[in-house]
Amino acid sequence: YLYGVPALARASSSGTSLQKEESTDASSGQGFKGHDMLAPFTAGWQSTDLHPLVIQKSEGSYVYDINGKKYLDSLAGLWCTALGGNEPRLVDAAVKQLKTLPFYHSFWNRTTKPSLDLAKELLDTFTATKMAKAFFTNSGSEANDTQVKLVWYYNNALGRPEKKKFIARSKAYHGSTLISASLSGLPALHHKFDLPAPFVLHTDCPHYWRYHLPGETEEEFSTRLANNLENLILKEGPETIAAFIAEPVMGAGGVIPPPATYFDKIQAVVKKYDILFIADEVICAFGRLGTMFGCDKYNMKPDLVSVAKALSSAYMPIGAVLVSPEVSDVIHSQSNKLGSFSHGFTYSGHPVSCAVAIEALKIYKEKNILEQVNKIAPKFQEGLKAFSDSPIIGEIRGTGLILGTEFVDNKSPHDPYPPEWGVGAYFGAQCEKHGMLVRVSGDNIMMSPPFIMTLEEIDELISIYGKALQATEERVK
Ligand code: PLP
Repeated sequence: YLYGVPALARASSSGTSLQKEESTDASSGQGFKGHDMLAPFTAGWQSTDLHPLVIQKSEGSYVYDINGKKYLDSLAGLWCTALGGNEPRLVDAAVKQLKTLPFYHSFWNRTTKPSLDLAKELLDTFTATKMAKAFFTNSGSEANDTQVKLVWYYNNALGRPEKKKFIARSKAYHGSTLISASLSGLPALHHKFDLPAPFVLHTDCPHYWRYHLPGETEEEFSTRLANNLENLILKEGPETIAAFIAEPVMGAGGVIPPPATYFDKIQAVVKKYDILFIADEVICAFGRLGTMFGCDKYNMKPDLVSVAKALSSAYMPIGAVLVSPEVSDVIHSQSNKLGSFSHGFTYSGHPVSCAVAIEALKIYKEKNILEQVNKIAPKFQEGLKAFSDSPIIGEIRGTGLILGTEFVDNKSPHDPYPPEWGVGAYFGAQCEKHGMLVRVSGDNIMMSPPFIMTLEEIDELISIYGKALQATEERVK
C-alpha cells in the first residue's frame, strides 16, 4: 500500500491472494455471494466473500452482466469468441444438427458426417505443411494430452521406447489437465499439484525485453536460446527427447511474440535431433495474428498441431490435433498391429460441435476474416502501443489481434511492483468500471478482441484503456 494502490476484491485470474480494500466492482451484490460453484482459476474458491461477475447475454463485441451493464469484451471470452457474441449462422448450424442427430460417437469405425467433413476442411485449411489426419477433442488441454500419447505411441511403434521426454518453455500455457499443465511453464499450475510430470523439461521463455543481455540484439538472443535448447538436448541425450511444443505467440504467459529468427533457429535444432515439433495453435489459429495460422506467420513447419477455441468461435467445445503423414503412417501401422488405437473421448467429433466448427470455418472464408483482422489490427496495435511511454508500463507487446501490457516500476523488467499493490488488478477493475473486460494476470494485462470488432469499437477499447491507465498512474505515482 506504499503508493496507496489498493488490492481489489475481484482477484486476478493468476490466483494472487488480493485483499479486499476497495472495490470498483459495479457488479457486486448480485446475490451470488458465496456461491456453490468450484470456479476455475479463481482465488479462494471456498471463500464466502466472492462476488462473481455474472454474464448473462452477448451481442457482437459486447457482453452484459446480470444487472444489464454492458462491457466491451476485449478478450473475446477466453481468447476464443472470434465471431463475437451472436452470430446467427453458428446458432442455426447447432440447432439444425441438434434436430437431426444431436449425438453419435466416432469409436470403432462408426462416426458422423459432420466430423468427417470437418476433418477434411481442417486439413485443407492448414497449409504450412501437409497434414494427413485430424483427431477431435473437446478442448485445447485434451488436444495437448493427445499429442503426448500420439508421440509416445509413435516412438514405441518405431522401437525407441526411451525417446519420451517433452521440451516445453517457461511461461507457456498448454492447458490444465495433468499432462497439459505439466507442459505449461507457469509455476501456479505446478505448485501444490505435484507437477510437472518428470518427462517434461522446460527451456527458456523467448521474451526479449525481459531476458536479453545488455547489448544483445533480438537475433543474438534467439541464437542464444537455440544454443541453450541444443545444450539441454545434448545433456539429456537426444535419444530421450521426443518432442518440442510451442505456441507461435505465447498467450496466457503474458502475450509474448517470438523474437526475430527465433523459430528458424529453434526448428533447425529440433530437426537435427529427430525431435517432433508441435505447434500449439489453440489461441493463434484461424486469423488472430492476421494469418490463418501462427505457423504461416512464423514459417513454422510442425509435425503436429493443436487447435481449439476459434475453431468453433467457442459456440461449442471442440479441439483437434492435426497429424503429419509421417507420424500418421506409423500410428496407423501400429494400431493395425495392436488391433486398435485405444484413445478417444465420448465427445470426440461431437456432431453438433463439428457442425458449428464447419460453419465457423465457412464464415472465416466467406467474410474474408483475414482481411477484416488486418483492417482493424493496425489501429488496435498502434492505438494501444501509443501508451508505451506511461511511467508505469514496462512493455506493450503484440501482433494482429493479441496484445499484452506489463506494469513495472522504472520501466525496467527487473523492478516489478510489489504483488500486494495489485497494480494489474486495479487497472483491470478500472476497465471493468468503464465497461470493458480484460484479462489480468498479476501485473500483466492481456487482450485479444473478437475478429469482428468495428473500427469504432477499437476506438472505444483504446479510450477505456486510456482512462483505466490514467487512473492507475494516479494511484501508483
Ligand atoms: N493451449 C493454449 C495455447 C491455450 O491458450 C489454452 C487455453 O487458453 C489451452 C491450450 C488449453 O485449452 P482449453 O482451456 O480449451 O483446455
